[in-house]
Amino acid sequence: MDNQIKSKIIEILENYLNPISKKPFMLGEEINLVIKNGHANLSININPDDISKYEKVKEELENKISSVENVLSANVVLTAERKAAEKGNQDPRNNKYELEVKNIIAIASGKGGVGKSTVAVNTAIALSALGKSVVLLDADIYGPSIPKMMGISGKPISNKEKKFVPLENYGIKCMSIGFLLPTDTPTIWRGPMIMKALEQLFISVEWGSPDYMIVDLPPGTGDTQITMAQKVPLKGAIIVSTPQDIALIDARKGINMFNKVNVPVIGIIENMSYFICDKCNQRHEIFSYGGAKNEAKKLDTEFLGEVPLDKNLRISSDEGKPIGIFNQNSDIAKKYIEIANKIINI
Ligand code: ADP
Repeated sequence: MDNQIKSKIIEILENYLNPISKKPFMLGEEINLVIKNGHANLSININPDDISKYEKVKEELENKISSVENVLSANVVLTAERKAAEKGNQDPRNNKYELEVKNIIAIASGKGGVGKSTVAVNTAIALSALGKSVVLLDADIYGPSIPKMMGISGKPISNKEKKFVPLENYGIKCMSIGFLLPTDTPTIWRGPMIMKALEQLFISVEWGSPDYMIVDLPPGTGDTQITMAQKVPLKGAIIVSTPQDIALIDARKGINMFNKVNVPVIGIIENMSYFICDKCNQRHEIFSYGGAKNEAKKLDTEFLGEVPLDKNLRISSDEGKPIGIFNQNSDIAKKYIEIANKIINI
């Protein structure tokens, strides 16, 4: 129940502007949120000079949070520790990781199971086929599937500077939380742990200076996305959706979230767009068709392409043998080359 309360409160914060930065409030650096048995405690890190400007915020947020279903009490406190320690007026949002990667692109989706990781892998393979140097970072801490899809297992070793050496296959260096955690044991992730894990994946890895880093995000709009927006110098996010309304509703939420945190949505991909029967050659639009393209038009963002539902793509992904390497002449591999070309030209 506390988790439901947390999502509702995050929604409230996303729709509430910090009176100083004029941007929505962010969990992590700026806001700490603890919910226990229906009691919500939120602390806002502020500069002590601004205290008068936050009094109203405190009251309004307490009222809004109190009215969330199942909340028994809401307490908002203003703290000034970190700002005071920082001795300056730096906006913590500006302290991004320093990486030598030319273009960092996050692959996101509103829902799980729409093919986000499959798109991340195949886009990386296609960019590499077009001569770009590419690395792949699996930030899907809840269900890391990049190791399997890239046919990589094992544990990365550390170099002299105590940085992980990413594992490589098909010319693409990969790092995944999946390399560092036991496979079948669930990990319960809390906000600060997510930030630490992401920090490790981004800055404690010998990434070199590739043209592209493709980041596979967890589905939805949680702490990982917020940390990414705060900490990673992203070129933008690509949203993957299946065509039906129910998936698009969540994709739209993802797009709105990226807009709010000032991460450009550089395009939308429709996955499982249609199915061509291998027996009768007839086209079936199992999950409807064209929804993502319409959405891209409405939101004035690029439609990067549609990928059909395809048994061979599923098999090759599950076997860790990307279709762009093992069947370069397939329609699917060609679709991904078109997508990669569009990404290069953005
Ligand atoms: P997500 O990252 O969104 O949870 P995955 O990429 O892990 O989704 O894909 C979920 C499953 O669907 C995997 O078994 C994958 O092989 C399969 N899949 C993804 N895209 C397609 C497609 N276009 N055609 C057939 N199977 C697909």
